[in-house]
Amino acid sequence: MKRFTLSLALVLAAAIIAQADRIFMKDGRTFEGKVIEETDDVIKLKMSKGTIPLKRAEIDRIEKGVSVAEEVDAMLEALTPSNPTGYVEAAEMCISKGTGDGPTIERLGNIATSLDPSLCSRAQTAIGDWYSQKGNRARAAVAYLAAYTADWKNQAVRDKFLKHRDSLAEQKKSQMKRLGESIQLAIDDRLAEAIPGLQASLNAPGACLVSTYVPTYRNFAALVADIRARVPCKTCAGKLWIKCYSCNGEGSFKCAACAGKGYKELKKNGVVVEKKDCAPCSGTGSIRCAKCRERSGEIRCTACKGVVPRAAGTWDRRGLISFKAAIDERMVGSLSAEEQTGPKLARLGTTTFDESFTEDGKLVFSGGKWVKPEEKR
Ligand SMILES: [Zn+2]
Ligand SMILES: [Zn+2]
Ligand SMILES: [Zn+2]
Repeated sequence: MKRFTLSLALVLAAAIIAQADRIFMKDGRTFEGKVIEETDDVIKLKMSKGTIPLKRAEIDRIEKGVSVAEEVDAMLEALTPSNPTGYVEAAEMCISKGTGDGPTIERLGNIATSLDPSLCSRAQTAIGDWYSQKGNRARAAVAYLAAYTADWKNQAVRDKFLKHRDSLAEQKKSQMKRLGESIQLAIDDRLAEAIPGLQASLNAPGACLVSTYVPTYRNFAALVADIRARVPCKTCAGKLWIKCYSCNGEGSFKCAACAGKGYKELKKNGVVVEKKDCAPCSGTGSIRCAKCRERSGEIRCTACKGVVPRAAGTWDRRGLISFKAAIDERMVGSLSAEEQTGPKLARLGTTTFDESFTEDGKLVFSGGKWVKPEEKR
């Protein structure tokens, strides 16, 4: 939900720049931009090069453009679950206007489908069109395949899928290649280098095979977690404690009240008549740092939260080697696009929309964000 609100805000921000206000000056000049401030004397116009102030007295007239953002907002606010088609139409309108983003379009499509499953093919086609337009051909192929699965007599959708299918196969192949390379790094004990690739491979085809070859790992995520735990934290180098930033590792500060001397001199006519212990530092001349009370000069590392690195070498390297071999085998074999897509895509035939969005069918758009109906203003 949060991710969506944010992405929608980005869409709106982009749209505001897209549609300009025009200011016509009495001397014939015109300026295009967005009016961001208006007073009795001056109008501030934000243009691509910067913001300029224009004197109202010199302005002939102002034409305010209805921004795409306002248009999209109004359209989304008008959506209601009693008209599921409206959600798909909204997605299609975003596509034709070149506004919106992936999560927005997907959400609109998912809501429409959750309200009326017969809209699945049209919704997925819209999602596919959006990604195709943006050059993400592999994601488009996934959507077109879902659309085709929901409406298998639709030849136009089938053609769209076939046109994008190769990109999907390419993507899956490169994911598998990366998976294989990362596992090789792990086998070679280059664990820190292996981690980014492994983390990016959670959904790579073949990743789920790990439990077949290394039964100690329930799934691929368990392998990644284990390898992560074997790499000492970069921030603290595995020591779990780092230098206190507050006192720069000193553990204490020089007392400001006595300049570190520990006492105060009482003078009369320039002559010291009495030395008194400094109260703030109790005569020690230094004040204990409050940040590192637990261990003087050091604080607990927050990057690893105190997770002790596991010793390397006590693991099933042999199993990993078999796992890597299994992936290589699949890489050389020319698997068809359908086989390459993996279990996630196979499920699309039965689950044609994201289950997690079904609750969203009840949401309404109000005041620039998705809210529960009772929160609508
Ligand atoms: Zn400190
Ligand atoms: Zn002092
Ligand atoms: Zn650490």
